[in-house]
Amino acid sequence: MPQKTHHYSNGEITIAWKPDVCIHSGICFKGLAEVFDPRRKPWIDMTQAETQQIIEQVKKCPSGALSFTADNS
Ligand code: SF4
Repeated sequence: MPQKTHHYSNGEITIAWKPDVCIHSGICFKGLAEVFDPRRKPWIDMTQAETQQIIEQVKKCPSGALSFTADNS
């Protein structure tokens, strides 16, 4: 079955989030709550931190649900 993927961009990078892969570890929203807030819709707000901070947090996702690509590559 194809997995759903949601995309969030800040014009520099795009985060891909796969809800079916997410294990709700909370690591993203404990580490960078301004960007990752599960009570908000959309829950990822790319305007709330610098690109490098977002990248560092995405890399800590233990399940692989979060990934990113550069927008201008
Ligand atoms: S860190 Fe990854 S697995 Fe954990 S809640 Fe965030 S997206 Fe889901």
